[in-house]
Amino acid sequence: MRFESFSFAPEILRAISECGYQKMTPIQQQAIPAIRRGQDVLASAQTGTGKTAAFALPILQKMVDKPSETLRSNTKALILTPTRELAAQVAQNITDYSKYLDISTITLYGGVKMDSQALKLKRGVDIIVATPGRLLEHLTSCNLSLSNIDFLVLDEADRMLDMGFSQDIQKILQVANSKRQNLLFSATFSSAVKKLANDMLVKPNVISA
Ligand code: AMP
Repeated sequence: MRFESFSFAPEILRAISECGYQKMTPIQQQAIPAIRRGQDVLASAQTGTGKTAAFALPILQKMVDKPSETLRSNTKALILTPTRELAAQVAQNITDYSKYLDISTITLYGGVKMDSQALKLKRGVDIIVATPGRLLEHLTSCNLSLSNIDFLVLDEADRMLDMGFSQDIQKILQVANSKRQNLLFSATFSSAVKKLANDMLVKPNVISA
């Protein structure tokens, strides 16, 4: 199935086409309609399946459909990833997909000074891609608010739990807008991942690719 059949905004279709994508991957075919309908998603997906576009494209489209009525400083989407490398890669993909849209993305991970990240956060950002530890540091320092987010994505949830981020994730979930849409992507499903999914997802659309 081609991206054109899913009525994406022309700005998004142009960016996708410049990335060289033509047909959707299986995970994209399943996740994109579910996310656009507003459902929570539980996806079993390995790296390399096109999972980043599977969550990023419908989130961008929904942001276009519902332009922000509130201030720019209200972050709309949070994507948590286990490592700084993955955070950087996901943020780069989102920046590529949103190059013709007025949507800003920031990457937050440790090992970099808090100050410059805090300054950018205070100016306002639509999408945050972060590792859980650094995101929590910024939350504790009141550099950002998650009270208005519409989307929360856990990317590679199994790796995040393996790396000991469970408590950080719980704290983040507690302060995030309770009316958000939740998307959980994981390559494997241990009992810990299943419990997390059970705790945070509401009637999820279950997908595997
Ligand atoms: P990911 O699983 O998100 O890490 O994506 C793996 C690779 O597939 C990345 O290089 C993407 O740019 C690429 N990709 C994602 N979706 C598509 C698509 N529909 N067609 C071709 N390549 C894609």
